[in-house]
Amino acid sequence: MATKTTGKDFIRQIIRNDLELGKNAGRICTRFPPEPNGYLHIGHAQSICLNFGVAKDFNGECFLRFDDTNPAKETTDFVEAIIKDVTWLGFDWGNRLTHASDYFDDIYDCAVELIEDGHAYVDNQSGDEIRQTRGTLNEPGTDSPYRNRSVAENTGLFERMRSGEFDNGENVLRAKIDMGSSNINLRDPIIYRILHLEHQRTGNKWCIYPMYDFAHTLSDAIEGTTHSLCTLEFEDHRPLYEWFLDHLNLPNRPRQIEFSRLNLEHTHLSKRKLATLVEKNIVNGWDDPRMPTLSGMRKRGYPASTIQDFCQRVGITKKDKSIEMALLENSVRERLDADSPRIMAVLNPLKVTIENYPDGVTEELDAKNHPKNPDMGNRSMIFNKEIFIERDDFMEHPSEQFYRLKPGGEVRLRFAYIIECKDIIKDDKGNIIELICTYDPETKSGSGTSTKKVKSAIHWVSASSAIKAQVNLYNALFSVAKPQGEEDLNPNSMEVIEALIEASVSDAEVGDRFQFERNGYFILDADSDKGKIFNRIITLKDTWAKVKNK
Ligand code: ATP
Ligand code: MG
Repeated sequence: MATKTTGKDFIRQIIRNDLELGKNAGRICTRFPPEPNGYLHIGHAQSICLNFGVAKDFNGECFLRFDDTNPAKETTDFVEAIIKDVTWLGFDWGNRLTHASDYFDDIYDCAVELIEDGHAYVDNQSGDEIRQTRGTLNEPGTDSPYRNRSVAENTGLFERMRSGEFDNGENVLRAKIDMGSSNINLRDPIIYRILHLEHQRTGNKWCIYPMYDFAHTLSDAIEGTTHSLCTLEFEDHRPLYEWFLDHLNLPNRPRQIEFSRLNLEHTHLSKRKLATLVEKNIVNGWDDPRMPTLSGMRKRGYPASTIQDFCQRVGITKKDKSIEMALLENSVRERLDADSPRIMAVLNPLKVTIENYPDGVTEELDAKNHPKNPDMGNRSMIFNKEIFIERDDFMEHPSEQFYRLKPGGEVRLRFAYIIECKDIIKDDKGNIIELICTYDPETKSGSGTSTKKVKSAIHWVSASSAIKAQVNLYNALFSVAKPQGEEDLNPNSMEVIEALIEASVSDAEVGDRFQFERNGYFILDADSDKGKIFNRIITLKDTWAKVKNK
């Protein structure tokens, strides 16, 4: 019986029902079956959370099974990246890490069983001929001239295929089902093909490899999967899945249930399309922080728990849906707001000299690490005569609604003093290069005696102690919600700037996350001799609403 039922989705309801009917003797077993031909993306996370989540909720087991039936495209690098990503997401398969290739012997035996029962035949037609005789959605296919070979002839030919007597494509093994079926998947599907290629795990043992549908069904049945959860495009394959189960002697009868794929706006969730972005160097590898891959999101700074949270919010349904990026980002933002210490960083610096502040004096001011969580403690910030503020926080010709610094105006420097702008220094071209201000010593945060009030507070860093750092500002990879191709790429998806950050950041370690006050959330991505590199995880406010209304 279920101990915990976090979800009420239709799949969990089916499983609960199966348990009540006493199916599988109360056993629950699922699997996440990635093909190691690319990195995992957030769509895969949906499937991982579902499969591992169901196993957890119903005291069952979940396998991580590599679907490695196509040695032409699969590599051990992809296997390792997938293992790293599933671990990072927070799931544990225990000793249940398997490969479809673990079952190649059994799958071969099943093929022989089908042949012996008259349910499979070796076809010598070419790939093109097979495609051309498959029929269409409206017209039935036509029988292969080799369809009625005897069991003995098929057995002999299949054995010769296995022993390497034929070249790639010379013949295939097909299930003998029904060329007139209204379901194209049942028109004598190919179940084995010849491929003289070394396999990453089985080496040169095989020169024939099972096709996906055959291998997948049998892996499920052999491994003990009770509920085989897959995406909707496999709905039409379910009759074939069941045909295999009906026509073979298998230890276990899994049940296939389909759910809709996750689609996310402003990106692609298809390994093939993502691979193209990597191959064409449009992004810097699979783990580029703009990619919807789990490794990209990790590098971007998204906590793994927010991806789980997002998958739960999206939920499991049968209806195709396209999810707004804002939903994912809101999960990230909520979590970072609660967990991230605040520091000050100036992304676009403007120098300010405080003319009445004594020369050579340095003060250490007390700053809160989190406005709502005193447990996160305080730090000290160095204050002296020369500081930097954000260029945008000053306007020479402001509108009436502008409450930050302006000529003759006052603003509070957060955790420090109120300053007043006395003078503007410009270069030959008329660009503002420095402000001359005065401070009011009675307005010191926390201890000043002045009752003066100003409408806004801005962030700042001291010129003598701030650290220079590279900051990568990431934006959406595609500028349209439903991108088609490269023409939809956002030319401003990555902007690299040099920022000034308060000195306390020198203790930060790679992977530490901060809120740069008023600027967003950032993660320390790398720390080298050349300095620190931060990635912007996310802005403080939802910027998608704005994009939408444009
Ligand atoms: P892609 O189209 O990105 O190549 P795939 O389905 O070919 O995806 P697999 O490695 O076969 O990639 O996927 C492993 C599992 O993840 C499958 O069970 C698949 O149904 C599921 N999956 C893949 N993409 C999504 C998605 N967008 N939403 C939910 N589940 C997905
Ligand atoms: Mg697939």
